[in-house]
Amino acid sequence: MNDIPHHDPDCIFCKLAAGKIPSRKVYEDEHVFAFHDINPWAPVHFLLIPKLHIPSMAQVGAEHADLLGRMMTLAPRLAAQEGCRPYPQGGFRIVCNTGGDGGQEVHHLHIHVIGGPRPWVKG
Ligand code: AMP
Ligand code: ZN
Repeated sequence: MNDIPHHDPDCIFCKLAAGKIPSRKVYEDEHVFAFHDINPWAPVHFLLIPKLHIPSMAQVGAEHADLLGRMMTLAPRLAAQEGCRPYPQGGFRIVCNTGGDGGQEVHHLHIHVIGGPRPWVKG
């Protein structure tokens, strides 16, 4: 993992997490940043990213277990905060596109959290 820089100066999500370009912030702590997707598919659609520049799930290793655990345990809390209705009638969808075949467009690991009443724009 040593060949992956902590921050990539050309990465849009590194810039968002550093506050260098504006976003509609949902949550921030030392390790994680969450913000509304600029092109939402559903009434609730935000992205949860590590501040560490990891290009995708394909680069994740055992050293990232705590970080990914934080993100996955944060997701339901932020989903509720942002207006997803309670399980089981409500709920949300978590999507993590990985690589070209996975439909990934931005190469900084991100989890989409999507929810709210249907219909959605897609999905
Ligand atoms: P993916 O296809 O999984 O790589 O998704 C990238 C997502 O990032 C898309 O849903 C975009 O709408 C979203 N996105 C790209 N640029 C921004 C931005 N500046 N602020 C918020 N969301 C963005
Ligand atoms: Zn990045």
